[in-house]
Formats: sequence, structure tokens, C-alpha cells
Amino acid sequence: MNAEKLSKRLETVVSFIPEGSRIADIGSDHAYLPCYAVDKGIAVSGIAGEVAEGPYQSALKQVKYSQLEDVIAVRKGDGLEVISPNETDCITIAGMGGALIASILEEGKGKLEGVSRLILQPNVSAVSIRSWLLENGWELKAEKILEEDNKIYEILVADKGEPEAPYDNMESELLLGPFLLKENSSVFKQKWEQELKQWKNIIEKMKKAEDSPELKQRKAQIQKKIGIVEEVLDEKR
Ligand code: SAM
Repeated sequence: MNAEKLSKRLETVVSFIPEGSRIADIGSDHAYLPCYAVDKGIAVSGIAGEVAEGPYQSALKQVKYSQLEDVIAVRKGDGLEVISPNETDCITIAGMGGALIASILEEGKGKLEGVSRLILQPNVSAVSIRSWLLENGWELKAEKILEEDNKIYEILVADKGEPEAPYDNMESELLLGPFLLKENSSVFKQKWEQELKQWKNIIEKMKKAEDSPELKQRKAQIQKKIGIVEEVLDEKR
């Protein structure tokens, strides 16, 4: 993968960037995504945000190599602190846990002024993002699920504004994704069969551990998720 040829995962993220956007890619690492989006003429400008020195240096190098220094700014900082209000229209955050992505959005709320689209690709816990979107006036517009190199990825696309159609079945739709549930693809089924297997293994291990109030609570949480997912998969069979 490089800035000329993106992974299927990042290419799918890019496919949701509205043409002519000023984008910010937070946790950009090599800045492949903004370089690609600007180079292809999809975005007019970009900001590559990075909190860690190594990836920040890689991003600087890539932007220079792509000769895009005039249109892509590489900035070092935590989450949305690298952008100013009304500076970007579209934010992409990919390749991190859902809870971290949600916390970046929560801590940077003030910087979201002027942003009309968020494209988020959590590696785990997409539910944390769906909950954050719902609580903060962002409407989930599309979702994608895909498999690449034996890993399954979800991509969530949200636009500013209260949801027109609220969730029908809040618990299952927040956990599994309303669009992905409806689509019911083979990758989706595969993902949740895998999750179920993992949760059941955890429950088995927990049975051998000494019971504590925390363990009981954790067990109950997992069992609840198992119940939700099993019901959905049974219905879809
Ligand atoms: N977005 C790229 C992708 O999807 O291929 C890179 C993903 S990489 C696994 C995650 C990157 O996010 C790392 O380079 C890490 O330094 C950066 N990161 C993690 N937390 C961050 C934060 N709070 N603010 C900015 N960058 C962050």
C-alpha cells in the first residue's frame, strides 16, 4: 500500500469523501489517505494529524514526496487539536479502536464546527461510535463492512444533523449497525459468528476464575451481547 495505491479499506473510506472537500485525516500515519484523496482531485486540501513522532515524520516525508506541501498540512497533535473550527468539511479517522475514535470526537467537539461529514473506520467497538453519533447530533448515513488480509473492517459515515429515522431496535442496531444488519452480507455474518465464538470462550475462562462483583458484571455484559447477536443471527438464517 502507498499513496498511489491504497488498501481496499482506505479506498472505501475515501469513496465517501464528498468531492471538493477540505479534509482532515486524524491519526494519519503515512498520510497515504490525504495524499491519495488530494492527488485524485477528490479533496481540494488536507490536514494530516498525528500524535506520535515517528508517524508524524512519515507523514511529512510522504507529503513532500508527493509534492503536495502546498495543499496538505502535516500537524503534530492529539486528536482534533490540530484543526481550527471551520477549517475542514470532512474528517476521516481510521485504523483505531472505536472507543478511542469516540473519545477523540468528544474531546474535540468544539472543532467540529463547519464539519459536515465524518468517515470513521474503527478496528473494534463500532458501537462506541454509533452511540456517540446518536448522542451528539450526527446522522449515520451509510455503513460498509469488508474483509482484507483476513481482517474484517467496518466503515461508518455520518452527516451533521439529527437522525431522520431513529433506530427501530436500539440495542441490536447500535451493536451491529442498522445498515449492515439490513444488508446482512456474508462478511457481516462471518464477523458476528467470530465475535460470538470469542465471547463464549471468554465466558468459559471466566467460569474458572474466582467470582468477584466486577467479573460478574463483565460476564453479564458479555452474555447480554451474546443474546443480542444470537437472536439477530437466528432471525437472519
Ligand atoms: N489512519 C491510518 C490507517 O488507517 O491506515 C493509520 C492507522 S494507525 C494504526 C493509528 C495511528 O493513529 C497511529 O499512527 C497513531 O500514532 C495515531 N493516533 C492514535 N491516537 C491518536 C490521537 N489521539 N491523535 C492523533 N493521532 C493518533
